[in-house]
Amino acid sequence: MIGLQPEGDIDWSSYRGVMVFVEQRNGQAKPVSWQLIGEATRLAAKLNVKVMALVIGWQVSELAEESIYHGADEVYVCDSKELEHYRTRPYSRVCLHVIRKYKPEIVLMGATNTGRDLAGAIATHLPTGLTADSTQLDVDEERLLLASRPAFSEKMLATILCKQFKPQMATARAGVFEQLPRDTTRTGEVIQVPPQMDPGEIATEMIEFLETKGSVNLAEAEVIVAGGRGLGGPAAFEMLKELADELGGVVGASRAVVDLGWIGHDHQVGQTGVTVRPKLYFAIGISGAVQHVVGMQNSSYIVAINKDANAPIFKIANYAIVGDLFQIIPAIIQAVRTRKL
Ligand code: FAD
Repeated sequence: MIGLQPEGDIDWSSYRGVMVFVEQRNGQAKPVSWQLIGEATRLAAKLNVKVMALVIGWQVSELAEESIYHGADEVYVCDSKELEHYRTRPYSRVCLHVIRKYKPEIVLMGATNTGRDLAGAIATHLPTGLTADSTQLDVDEERLLLASRPAFSEKMLATILCKQFKPQMATARAGVFEQLPRDTTRTGEVIQVPPQMDPGEIATEMIEFLETKGSVNLAEAEVIVAGGRGLGGPAAFEMLKELADELGGVVGASRAVVDLGWIGHDHQVGQTGVTVRPKLYFAIGISGAVQHVVGMQNSSYIVAINKDANAPIFKIANYAIVGDLFQIIPAIIQAVRTRKL
């Protein structure tokens, strides 16, 4: 951190453990939380420390158990009606209390709207360094977190270190890291944490939560039907939507078609879009540029449809279909419907 110096002689060696903030809404954890716990177990094994999870919300005790099943050794739970919906100050007060008292050396959060807001507030208060939007994490022999993220218009991968402060903080994109298989035989310790603000002290009030209509949640989708410039125009996205609906999935897109205005940016997969890890990914009329591939290559199964047999997307596809998408997609929709009958 430029310009900041730690005050006095702080014994950073008392900071031990890798902590993950388990983000939830209505008691449902965001998949990125389990993915980060998965990654935290890898880092913690290298550092020979425990994985700590922090669960904040209302009626979230089940998530403490789930955190253990997903790899946590210790779970800090703050369960209070006032914490039902995310608000920066009451949530950050709990985080600050837990971090100061239990001293994790690394704190990880999802690079979601909530994670970005919370991590920034905490890092500023502590103070410590924060790497936002990490896509790779590791630790070195000096126990330093190596948090890498795209930089300089995504043309370089920068590895950022926080040498002078603890904990070392990073947010990470959903879909980048792999969660561990849920293991219900795992056991761990659950530590209750009291809320750190009286209700009267909280300046903001949640009146109603309204989901944005029409927005797409690519990061959590199990099936993505993505289209590129090969679609020839925005109208063909209707066909992709039909296939996505049949498969219980959502529509994704390459940047080329987002830039052309054929579909909204929230559908964009890739380096400057969303990183995804669905079970099934259709790349339709997408050439397979590296900036697209980095965002979807971790999909379990990739089906690529392209009329060019030499399209780079075929190098990473599990199933390669060479041909005209306007003939192939209606045939797939028909086949899926027939199987359902
Ligand atoms: P094209 O490359 O034009 O490919 C179209 C494909 O459709 C071709 O392979 C063609 O053979 C096929 N096709 C055409 N007609 C048919 C048909 N009838 N049936 C079947 N196939 C057909 N791109 C992203 O996607 N995501 C990003 O996040 C992203 N970030 C970027 C960041 C930077 C800094 C830069 C420089 C670029 C980024 N790009 C990104 C852009 C990327 O480099 C490519 O330009 C883009 O992915 C190409 O999109 P496309 O595959 O849809 O188009």
